[in-house]
Amino acid sequence: VVRRPARHSGRVTTLSPTPRSTVRRGKERARTEREELYAVLDAVLVCHLAVVLDGRPLVLPTGFGRDGDTLYLHGSTGAASLRTATAAPVCVAVTELDGIVYARSVFHHSVNYRSAVVHGMAHPVTDDEQKLHGLRVLTEHLAPGSWDYCRPPDRRELAATTVLALDLAEASVKIRGGPPVDDDEDVADDTRWAGVLPLARTWGTPEPCPQLGPHHTAPPPHLTTRTHP
Ligand SMILES: Cc1cc2nc3c(=O)[nH]c(=O)nc-3n(C[C@H](O)[C@H](O)[C@H](O)COP(=O)(O)OP(=O)(O)OC[C@H]3O[C@@H](n4cnc5c(N)ncnc54)[C@H](O)[C@@H]3O)c2cc1C
Repeated sequence: VVRRPARHSGRVTTLSPTPRSTVRRGKERARTEREELYAVLDAVLVCHLAVVLDGRPLVLPTGFGRDGDTLYLHGSTGAASLRTATAAPVCVAVTELDGIVYARSVFHHSVNYRSAVVHGMAHPVTDDEQKLHGLRVLTEHLAPGSWDYCRPPDRRELAATTVLALDLAEASVKIRGGPPVDDDEDVADDTRWAGVLPLARTWGTPEPCPQLGPHHTAPPPHLTTRTHP
């Protein structure tokens, strides 16, 4: 019996691993639902973009945003990493660290996490309307509410910005949760504590710009009400 992948709005709802995106190590931690990919990407604030520049690997932290099955990246038109990103396949990784797993042995120490890796070709977005859409998606991912609150990019700023679109067709998700997995002898020995130290990200108190006028008595609601991510 050939199982057909489930479809939602014409899109396959499961990730279809390619040789490159198949999780081999710790494959019980691999997730196959596309929704889980979206959840990880939407929960994480920054990504790492890997390119090959002048024959050498280069990994750079950078912002991103997701709209459906498109991941948007942006930066200066002068950025060599973004120029090279459209010439050859790229890889984008995101990680949210949820806790440190303290095992009874050093060997079995681990981390609880949600991570995703996206492989593919990044395409430059050249149409101004689509570029603005990509920038809105990116802005709203990092700073929800800012697109409508702030002055939009002008022509010069738009021309100085490269926007790349990466399809989420080839991606993997790996998630670890739960307690340590120790050797039976160490568990039976029971002389050492073991467990998880959870880690959670929280926002601090907004720090007003020193150049703000006196009428700015409080930050706007899109900052004060921000909870997640
Ligand atoms: C915060 C954090 C810390 C980690 N620390 C360690 C560590 O110290 N040592 C260690 O060995 N491993 C660690 N891992 C797991 C690590 O990311 C790899 O999954 C693991 O090293 C397997 O590597 P591999 O070369 O065998 O990958 P393979 O399983 O062969 O990778 C094949 C494909 O699987 C996918 N894939 C692999 N790993 C991930 C992932 N984490 N998320 C999404 N897709 C993935 C990619 O598409 C990749 O191309 C950590 C993960 C996270 C998120």
